[in-house]
Amino acid sequence: MVICARCGREVSPEDAVRQGSRVLCEDCLMDEMRPAKACDPWAVRHARSSMGSGAEAVRALRGLEKRLYDLVQERGAVQKDDAPKLLGAGEREVDRAFATLRHMELLRAERASDGSVLYVPFRSRPGGHTAAC
Ligand SMILES: [Zn+2]
Repeated sequence: MVICARCGREVSPEDAVRQGSRVLCEDCLMDEMRPAKACDPWAVRHARSSMGSGAEAVRALRGLEKRLYDLVQERGAVQKDDAPKLLGAGEREVDRAFATLRHMELLRAERASDGSVLYVPFRSRPGGHTAAC
């Protein structure tokens, strides 16, 4: 067996391809040959900004709603109990801001394995498309 220099997978020697000084599996060779369009920052930004009503809604956010949304985007997930402290706002204000964002389908609540409640981006999923880059 040989180890692919890119993904670290074990491949049989007949499936491995020598690329300069490295050995790659066929999948990785294909990836490297293909222009990396998906990882082009401009293309990604463009795709995000043209996501439709969601992007429009984000632009319209103000005040605490915007700060809560930005915080969750930045961290990927925020503990419900931490949000008021992090935002320097009252629990009820944060609840209300979250309710608005939930209604706009920008954020949603998720129960973590330890039972606490997390605020997460509405469209997040484990191993989502950002992981591809
Ligand atoms: Zn590989």
